[in-house]
Amino acid sequence: MTDFASTKALFHIPEGLIYLDGNSLGPLPLAAPARMAQAMTDEWGAMLITGWNRGGRDGTGWMGQPMALGDRVGRLIGAERGHVVLGDTLSIKVYQALTSALMLNPGRRVILSDNGNFPSDLYMAEGLCALLGQSYSLRVVAPEEVADAIDDSVAALMITEVDYRTGRRHDMAALTARAHALGAFAIWDLAHSAGALPVDVAAGGADFAVGCTYKYLNGGPGAPAFIYVAPRHADRTPPALSGWLGHAAPFAFDLTYRPGAGVERMRVGTPPVLALAALEASLDIWDSVDMAALRAASLALTDRFIAGVEAACPMLTLATPRDHAQRGSQVSFRFSEGYAAMQALIARGVVGDFRAPDIMRFGFTPLYIDAANVDRAVEIIAQVMGDRLWDQPEYRRRAAVT
Ligand SMILES: *Cc1c(COP(=O)(O)O)cnc(C)c1O
Repeated sequence: MTDFASTKALFHIPEGLIYLDGNSLGPLPLAAPARMAQAMTDEWGAMLITGWNRGGRDGTGWMGQPMALGDRVGRLIGAERGHVVLGDTLSIKVYQALTSALMLNPGRRVILSDNGNFPSDLYMAEGLCALLGQSYSLRVVAPEEVADAIDDSVAALMITEVDYRTGRRHDMAALTARAHALGAFAIWDLAHSAGALPVDVAAGGADFAVGCTYKYLNGGPGAPAFIYVAPRHADRTPPALSGWLGHAAPFAFDLTYRPGAGVERMRVGTPPVLALAALEASLDIWDSVDMAALRAASLALTDRFIAGVEAACPMLTLATPRDHAQRGSQVSFRFSEGYAAMQALIARGVVGDFRAPDIMRFGFTPLYIDAANVDRAVEIIAQVMGDRLWDQPEYRRRAAVT
């Protein structure tokens, strides 16, 4: 069992804030600044170029960090050891997984996704189809229609397990099994799953999985993404972004590309060493977290929040499934003036976010949110909604990031 009271003490949460936006940007682990300072001063500063071979907290070299830390993320998503690597951003990793799946399934031309997916994933697929031409296309259906939309034209399913707006969760094992039965690959985006709930890519049969580390994994703004390639594909996957660090022998400086072993071929260029050091401070916390305990705590928090808000705020409409099996680790309510209402909440220390057109989104992360925080947030929401405190011009002015 994880003691969530003790994990809470490992994060910096500004005084007076109830931070319900760790699903968008996780908070700072208290150990991260010292780890970053060490990476900058003792490694970059003192070691300079030799850090590639002897940097890193354990002295095994910066070059090995994307795989070493990849395994620690891998435990959280049920990956086999040695099959997750860190680097780049999630959009890039989506593109890599898609191109690999299309190359492994050459007779088919359709990428299937749903309209609850995060737009960047859909944009990357559109761009890839435009590049490939030859009748490649992206087919987007409603989330509940995905299973029935898989047919023998579909090369790959590209699905985000937990909907970023509503928190609705797809059934990874069932959709993957159906995709495989019909000859399609299954690519899972775990942006709102990794660190949010137990994931088992191996048992679920995922062919590829991707995700980011700055949301629930608390790696910091711009922290690197991850990619998982199932062991059965790892040594045969053609890497479309064939950068030198995915080469079998980067320092042979061959003039032609030979893919590296397994998932290492999904590396592209120079790893973000400083960002990896910050992420490492967060993974030190995650290493001790029991994912089943995390899930139980998360469901208790989201149930408590739903019950409290529904009892106090009849004007808010729940957008998140009540069924535990279909819920991620966030709760969303629809409200026509949701943007202004969220600004009014943020001004009173309850930090969630807004997703167009009308979603007020609240993330629940047992690592640093407890039942008392939920109760206090509900009180403040009840006051803001009940007294229409959001109805002020200053709360309607939109910032670039919502
Ligand atoms: C957050 C998120 C992204 C963001 O991609 P970046 O390249 O890291 O900016 C992409 N896809 C999904 C599903 C997300 O939730």
